[in-house]
Amino acid sequence: MKKILGVLLLVLMGTISFTKEVLYVGTNAEFAPFEYMKDGEIVGFDIDLINKIGEKIGKEIKIKNIAFDGLLPALQTNKIDLIIAGMTVTKEREKFVDFSKDYFIANQVIVVPENENTIIDMESLKNKKVGVVLGYTGDLMVSKVEGVNKIQYNSAPSSIMALKGGKIDAMILDSAPAQSYVAKNKGLKIINIDTEVEKYAIAAGKNNQNLINEINKALDEIKSQGIYDELIIKHFN
Ligand code: GLN
Repeated sequence: MKKILGVLLLVLMGTISFTKEVLYVGTNAEFAPFEYMKDGEIVGFDIDLINKIGEKIGKEIKIKNIAFDGLLPALQTNKIDLIIAGMTVTKEREKFVDFSKDYFIANQVIVVPENENTIIDMESLKNKKVGVVLGYTGDLMVSKVEGVNKIQYNSAPSSIMALKGGKIDAMILDSAPAQSYVAKNKGLKIINIDTEVEKYAIAAGKNNQNLINEINKALDEIKSQGIYDELIIKHFN
């Protein structure tokens, strides 16, 4: 009996010491092609990227799907270790979290019904019903234009549905997801506007510079080894 217990103990110790440290990574799977649900699973560019980073730094990645505006609070209260969610680096967010190097450049665009011809820039959104996603950078951008009837949605897909259903005149969204949703939903088109460039990065809690350094090093390797380009081809074609 003692022998069996001893063996069990050894096996247990072995399992513990060989179990990789887990990193809990928060995302919001409503932002194709970066993160979205497919056959009940969270997939996308960001998910593949963070798993590659996990491989490089020897950590197991566990994804948690959280509402976008719940991601920063979850990180601040240590419910997650990282965020990867097509999240733009902003001065405001930098007060609460630290960001890695950026891994993707984006900008905001306007999505309108195909037959809409009066909306050509941000100014022309005045007196229009404009959908945004709560807490997204596009939400902040629209707030700066006076006279817009801004309507907040909980996700990009729900704002797209509202636009298709004629409940709003236009919506603001990040360029790559806008292209992805317009391709999958007939009757919509994209209006490109002159806006500031946005940089997506991975967020970690404050005072976690070691982890950020490891991630940055992994990102460099992922780029120099061609893995990044493979992921772009896989998710953006
Ligand atoms: N890039 C936008 C932001 O950071 C939208 C991100 C997202 O929806 N996942 O606010």
